[in-house]
Amino acid sequence: MKEQQDQLVIYNSLKGEKEPFVPLVEGKIGMYVCGPTLYSEPHMGNMRTFINFDLIYRYLLHLGFQVKYVRNITDAGHITNSAGQEVDSIGAAAKAEQLHSLEIVYKYAVKFQELQRVYNMLPPSIEPTATQHIQEQIEIIEQIITNGYAYQVNGSVYFDTRRYMQDYNYGILSGRKVDELENETRTLNAQDEKRFFADFALWKKSNPDDMQVWRSPWGNGNPGWHIECTAMSTKYLGKQFDIHGGGMDLKFPHHEDEIAQSCGSFGCNPARYWMHANMLNVNGQKMSKSFGNYFLPKQILDGSTGLFEKSYTANVVRFFMMQAHYRSNLDFTQEALNASEKGYLRLMEGLKTLDNIQTTASTSFDVAALVSSFYKAMNDDFNAPILVAQLFEAVKHINLISDGNASISIADKSELKAAMEVFIHDVLGLATESNATETRLAPVMDLVLDLRQQARANKDWTTSDQIRDGLAKAGIIVKDAKDGTTWN
Ligand SMILES: [Zn+2]
Repeated sequence: MKEQQDQLVIYNSLKGEKEPFVPLVEGKIGMYVCGPTLYSEPHMGNMRTFINFDLIYRYLLHLGFQVKYVRNITDAGHITNSAGQEVDSIGAAAKAEQLHSLEIVYKYAVKFQELQRVYNMLPPSIEPTATQHIQEQIEIIEQIITNGYAYQVNGSVYFDTRRYMQDYNYGILSGRKVDELENETRTLNAQDEKRFFADFALWKKSNPDDMQVWRSPWGNGNPGWHIECTAMSTKYLGKQFDIHGGGMDLKFPHHEDEIAQSCGSFGCNPARYWMHANMLNVNGQKMSKSFGNYFLPKQILDGSTGLFEKSYTANVVRFFMMQAHYRSNLDFTQEALNASEKGYLRLMEGLKTLDNIQTTASTSFDVAALVSSFYKAMNDDFNAPILVAQLFEAVKHINLISDGNASISIADKSELKAAMEVFIHDVLGLATESNATETRLAPVMDLVLDLRQQARANKDWTTSDQIRDGLAKAGIIVKDAKDGTTWN
């Protein structure tokens, strides 16, 4: 495995290019990924980010690295909204739902745990929460103030971006220039406490109606959002660690500000490799509430997205995601999902067929080269779509052998089987779902379709439609044709 570890190449967002991966300590990796903010259910786009980092984590483990994977939970703090304002989203959700902030946090924590289980994601090594690390956040803020990169106003503390820019490059990660930012950011008004528009809150003085408040050297208040990640990553991974990841939307300002805080307190960029996962499109458009193409990860499983004609299993959705590279766009369409469903079943069938094929004295194709192509794909910045294509290449050979048009030796069969199982189950994180359900379902479906046929013969369209719609919700599409009714 050491040889494969040495071949790993990662696209580093900090440099804008792929580079060989060299960990700080040989054989060990510290990886931090920004986790969910518990004020609502994560949407499908957030899930894609978490699933992609799950893939990355799984492959690093497979390569034999000892990985400490920290993914935080934001359960308090002021998030920067699209208008550049810092708002307490958990507090706002609590007021809107007439619940305590902690009820909001626990409600969405349970939902997130459930999604993690359903989508077959490995739990991180540590999932620290922001509220467990208030003291650590206060200490880092004090250090930033001591170093001269932050100032206090009226019980709040802000990062002094202009002072920081005299010593460091603000924009090193995002490439954003402060003068360009000025044009797209609202101008400061008289009520603003910030001295400069690009300054951001490290600590916010509490409002009288805040449900969660902490004591600090500057009075009662709440932490800023960015400082949480700096405190938690430093505590568990040190001032410098190997990989920092998150969604593309976090590159600016969140990750840029994390770098500024680490440089402002400890004098170094926290991570050697910055990795960003891309967002989602639905039917060619960016997923957004305003476009009406917004859905939750559970809705695609129960068929209630209102966008697709049927439901899909979590394995099919996960397999669908693996067919796009983590840095590329992924477009959810009916056609692509249906194709993935077929592809996923074909892959699982291939694995089953491999079990049953007869071996011969020799092999008619190069198994070692095929297996090494699996590694080559993943070593090239975790290129899962190429890996999937190579797995289908293996299925093609398996089917040829099964039809008597190719051959495989006993040693090659066991090498191929072991590699395919590792890459399908352990790396891609796909569990086996077979047509066994379909076999068991067939007599039940005959009965249901008979009943529907009777209803139609009696012109009872309500019952007939009720059966069709109910089946569609369960992911089964009924099609009526001249020569009979089919389902799939
Ligand atoms: Zn973060």
